[in-house]
Amino acid sequence: MDLIGKRALVTGGSRGIGAAIALALAENGADVAFTYQRSAERAATVVRSIEDNDRRGLAIQADSADPDAIRRAVAQTVGALGGLDILVNSAGVAIAGMTADLSLADLQTMLDVNVRGPVLFAQAAIPHLAAGGRIVSIGSSLAERVPFPGVTAYAMSKSALLAFTRGLSRELGPQGVTVNLVLPGSTDTDMNPADGENADYQRSLTSLGRFGEPREVASAVAFLASPAACLITGAVLNVDGGFAA
Ligand code: NAP
Repeated sequence: MDLIGKRALVTGGSRGIGAAIALALAENGADVAFTYQRSAERAATVVRSIEDNDRRGLAIQADSADPDAIRRAVAQTVGALGGLDILVNSAGVAIAGMTADLSLADLQTMLDVNVRGPVLFAQAAIPHLAAGGRIVSIGSSLAERVPFPGVTAYAMSKSALLAFTRGLSRELGPQGVTVNLVLPGSTDTDMNPADGENADYQRSLTSLGRFGEPREVASAVAFLASPAACLITGAVLNVDGGFAA
């Protein structure tokens, strides 16, 4: 997965899956900027890990719910890295609760960060993406199947990325830019710890009987970002231990 000379921006790269993606892209040769919301110290640790791979690393504080912050983050990335070849939309928020009890504020946050954020990041990135450019978004296995209550709005927000990915692949195909979607299943992060409340039930829904590790999702993203995946666009890749089988 040769990413040498590529310049990447990963949203939500301070922790969990996004941090693993930032590192995987750097390990394969890319310079990597990433955004975060609050975790400045953890972001600094990710920058050091990127730099340990002799790549440039840049942490940008930018709330994915703020359109101005999104535009600034893309501009800052392009300024610091000299351009942009790969955009990975990973920042996401999951607020559990029954639909009957869901507050307007929580619904709005999930729509802003999980749906509008990826659209606005793509919009800001598109003018910079040349042939060979890549957009990879992180959806969720819950976009296609919702096997328990309490995650309805989150699942709905992630399913919007299915249509977004397919439509955008049609729009950007003529300029040689690919657009793909990765659907992680239960992955051991702060958002969904492998020792959490319903973790055993989640394990029982998979073929492999276990949670994924962030780096196992990241390696799929690094592949889709690489030249080896040049014919793959508009695709949806389940990385979920068989949850969707
Ligand atoms: P996580 O451990 O909670 O990490 C979330 C990351 O997103 C952090 O870097 C966080 O930054 C950032 N973020 C959250 N809200 C943001 C905002 N408004 N603006 C900017 N950055 C923001 O989550 P994760 O499990 O790694 O999830 C990563 C992605 O995978 C999400 O899109 C999630 O929906 C998806 N996913 C996760 C699972 C799972 O089981 N874990 C399964 C399927 C899909 P701070 O550190 O600054 O807060």
